[in-house]
Amino acid sequence: MTEIDLRDGELDGAVAPGPPENCTHCGRVLLGVRPICLYCGKRVARNPFAR
Ligand SMILES: [Zn+2]
Repeated sequence: MTEIDLRDGELDGAVAPGPPENCTHCGRVLLGVRPICLYCGKRVARNPFAR
């Protein structure tokens, strides 16, 4: 999986951010890579392919 990790030029376990996702609870845009909404504090089920 090293090739995928290097896809954005950095071996940090994450690729470059894709299009913003919205919280499924409050609808606000999720910031960063955390699966927790900053606004309502609920865990958001993120797309496993959007890593
Ligand atoms: Zn939320």
